[in-house]
Amino acid sequence: MFGFSFAKLLLTAVVVLAVWYGFKLMSKEGESPAVGDSKKKTDANIRSDAEDLVECAVCGAYVAPATAKACGREGCPYAA
Ligand SMILES: [Zn+2]
Repeated sequence: MFGFSFAKLLLTAVVVLAVWYGFKLMSKEGESPAVGDSKKKTDANIRSDAEDLVECAVCGAYVAPATAKACGREGCPYAA
């Protein structure tokens, strides 16, 4: 009548439920303490490896002082 059958509705319901339970399972895995700890360690590692960016007084670009290259403008403090 409306272009769909009971079988199609049932299949849709099964797919929706499968996705729902799959998502629930994945969420539970993400909340487990072991995974949470390794995530925190990874974040800390990334932070300790990161360099703080400093704004160039001349061009206004944010650069990492240790690896910065001159922007080419006159008076750039990072000109080598
Ligand atoms: Zn500059």
